[in-house]
Formats: sequence, structure tokens, C-alpha cells
Amino acid sequence: MPPTPADSAEPEFRSDVTADLVRSSAQDSDVLWAARVSTLGEQSLEELSKDPERSKGLINFLMRDRHGSPFEHNSMTFFISAPIFVFREFMRHRVGWSYNEESGRYRELRPVFYVPGPDRKLVQEGRPGKYVFVEGTDKQHQVVTEGMESSYRRAYEEYQTMLAAGVAREVARSVLPVGLYSSMYATCNARSLMHFLGLRTQHEMAKVPSFPQREIEMVGEKMEEHWARLMPLTHAAFNANGRIAP
Ligand SMILES: Cc1cc2nc3c(=O)[nH]c(=O)nc-3n(C[C@H](O)[C@H](O)[C@H](O)COP(=O)(O)OP(=O)(O)OC[C@H]3O[C@@H](n4cnc5c(N)ncnc54)[C@H](O)[C@@H]3O)c2cc1C
Repeated sequence: MPPTPADSAEPEFRSDVTADLVRSSAQDSDVLWAARVSTLGEQSLEELSKDPERSKGLINFLMRDRHGSPFEHNSMTFFISAPIFVFREFMRHRVGWSYNEESGRYRELRPVFYVPGPDRKLVQEGRPGKYVFVEGTDKQHQVVTEGMESSYRRAYEEYQTMLAAGVAREVARSVLPVGLYSSMYATCNARSLMHFLGLRTQHEMAKVPSFPQREIEMVGEKMEEHWARLMPLTHAAFNANGRIAP
């Protein structure tokens, strides 16, 4: 029997991304007890709340001298919804990350597509490795919006036509573009998140500048907001030490 078409085949166009914190076990004290086992052994847990200033200093020292492993004893799971081209970049981060993504084989893909918003800089100036992005004109935004929307509509129609003809989802999906939204759970720890943020965000406090694509940076900024609330001392030490993962 051919698969049932989606409830609504009318495409939806988005300019934003989602990065919701769905589960976490992550606090600054996780760094402290892990680090203090070096000198205190099994008593390290008892020391946690004794001297906040020392705790802050210890986290800063670990970050500065790149003692990285104490930053791994915590966990954050994010629900991410973003275009497939963002996922391609995201999943290059192999270490300290676990992923599970929705399947284009087991479910019919919904027609949700990315169109850059009015504040997305459209024009690249300079050469590879040394360039900046500048605002697009109204005309350029119009060309992008119209071109993407009509191309997405056409691609999704062909996808639907193939499904209606009884073609398997895993075959029909070939016509769908990288601007299609996908969703996944991504689990990391503070150390792997810092490595991600160092590469995928631009920040005035970064000692080593990076030049990420804006859309993955939007995901990174949202994850960073959640993390900063969970682990404020670790986040502050990350910034103070040039946003280089320990
Ligand atoms: C601005 C930007 C542009 C990029 N452009 C391109 C591009 O044009 N083409 C492209 O293919 N990729 C590109 N990438 C992806 C990039 O090369 C990395 O794959 C990605 O940033 C993940 O970084 P990572 O390997 O350090 O992270 P992870 O995979 O999480 O690894 C973390 C760390 O573990 C260590 N490690 C992991 N695996 C190994 C290994 N096999 N051997 C030794 N050490 C290891 C390294 O120290 C590494 O930094 C780009 C990334 C950025 C940020």
C-alpha cells in the first residue's frame, strides 16, 4: 500500500532554528568534585559548598591551564530543529556528542523549509579565509525568497507525486533540498559544547576568531544561553579565557 500523504502538503517557510534543552544534569559543582578528587580523594564531595571564591578560582585555573576532563562529568540533551545543511556541519563534531535524527526512511518528511530572514547578511565580500558578509539589498532578498520558495514547492510536489505512485520514502526523498528542516536530539557535555562554541560562534572575547555559517551559529547561541544558566561559573571562565575549550 502506498504511504499516506502528509496531513498538509502546503509548505511552511521558516527563518529561525530551535535548540531546546530537554534534559540536563549539569552544574558548576560537577566540575569541582571531579577536579578535587586529585587532592582529596573520596572527600571531594564534602568540599563543594565550603568556599565559593576558591571554587570559582579552581574552575578558572582548570580552564586556563586546559585541564579538560573535569568539564566532562555532566550532560545536556538538546532538541534541535534546523535545516539539513546545518545538520551536516553539526555532525562533524564527533567527540563528546551523541545524535539521534528523524528518519526520511521511516516517516514522510514534512514540508518545512528554510528561507533567510531580513536580517541575514546575503553578500560575501573578500577571498576565502578572509571575507566578510554584508547586508543584501531588498532586491537580493526578494530574489532569494522567491527563488527558494518556488524551488522548495516544486521539489516537494515531486516528492508527493512519487509517494502517491507508491515509491518508497527512502527513494523519493532524493529530490528534497538541504534547506529542508530536520530534527534531532544532541547530547553533549560542557567540554564538547565549549569546543563546538569555539568553532561555531563568533564572539568578541574569542582569542582565536572563527567564521561559522550564520545558521549553525544561531543554534550555538541558543545552546550557549541554556548552558550559561546551568553552569554560570564555567561559562564565565570560558569567556575569560578566550573561549578556547580546555
Ligand atoms: C568555519 C569552519 C569551516 C569549515 N569548513 C569545512 C570544510 O570546508 N570542509 C570540511 O570537510 N569541514 C569543514 N569544517 C569542519 C571542520 O574541519 C571540523 O570537522 C569540525 O569543525 C569539527 O571539529 P573537530 O574535528 O575539532 O571536532 P570533533 O570531531 O568533535 O573532535 C574534537 C577534537 O578531538 C580530536 N580528534 C577528533 N577526531 C580525531 C582524529 N580522527 N584524529 C585526531 N584527533 C581527533 C581533535 O583534537 C578535535 O579537535 C569547518 C569547520 C568550521 C568551524
